Amino acid sequence: MKDYFDLNGDGGSDVMGQVIALRKAIKQNLSSVNHLVAVGSGKGGVGKSTLTMQIAAALRRRKCAVACLDADFNGPSLARLAGLRDAPLLPGRHGLVLPKSSTGIGILSLGSVVPETEAVDFASVASGDSHVWRATKEFAMLAQFLATTEWGTLDYLLIDLPPGAERCFQFAEFLGHGTEFVLVTIPSEVSHGVVSRSITALGKAKASIIGLIENMGGYVCSGCHTVRPLFPPTNTDPARIPFLGSIPFDPELARRCDAGEALLPHDDSPVTKAIDAAVDNILSTLNERIAV
Ligand code: ADP
Repeated sequence: MKDYFDLNGDGGSDVMGQVIALRKAIKQNLSSVNHLVAVGSGKGGVGKSTLTMQIAAALRRRKCAVACLDADFNGPSLARLAGLRDAPLLPGRHGLVLPKSSTGIGILSLGSVVPETEAVDFASVASGDSHVWRATKEFAMLAQFLATTEWGTLDYLLIDLPPGAERCFQFAEFLGHGTEFVLVTIPSEVSHGVVSRSITALGKAKASIIGLIENMGGYVCSGCHTVRPLFPPTNTDPARIPFLGSIPFDPELARRCDAGEALLPHDDSPVTKAIDAAVDNILSTLNERIAV
């Protein structure tokens, strides 16, 4: 068998041709998507998936056509949050049929097809290099999802990113300059530190950042329904980027997420109001950019 270095050119695979064709297919398939917004952080467990869903719900309340792609292939959770854990991913006339929540939000998540008891495993060709192979497979899968899903006409496609500051960079490079990033932190110095790295990584990729949402900035007291402090004050300030708003921790929202009800109306709650205010800021930034 030939060693990798013995291959002449692309070894006859026309790999560049395939990459270019796939890029073209992605562009074509996303041509009716108005805005691509990636929700990242670098840090895990800070509420990226939760806020992706809440932003989607807020956009839907404004009558926008919206879908979410769960790009956290190793730890997909959007299917559970949307109550779509058993939604099959079926081939349609023009590609993969996009499962929809009862509120009309498209959700593409591996959590719909891989049970939570199973690890999402990207089989490796070589044990020592499995991390390299895994990353390659992940991006190949992302490309396939983007190129072959029947997204339809969308105002917003939200992409829920996996944790890892370097992943922000990789996704920014992969998704290209049409993608806008929203970052999520919790009010802790540990989280601020990671998010700060992600901001630097996105800067290196020349990515466009809309701003930062602080999640769990206080909690909704179940007794008095007011927002009370949750984290101690910090000495760090990650906001080298515009601040979009602070979302409180709401035990009822946590319950709804676990129960698959994250997209159902949660009207008049402090979370809904805070999300609406953050979405106002996201939209005004996007509108300003269009106007320029
Ligand atoms: P990430 O996507 O960053 O890993 P998740 O969105 O999965 O984080 O959130 C982690 C946990 O915290 C989940 O159980 C989620 O329901 C809960 N959670 C996140 N934000 C909130 C919030 N504002 N109110 C209530 N629960 C929240």
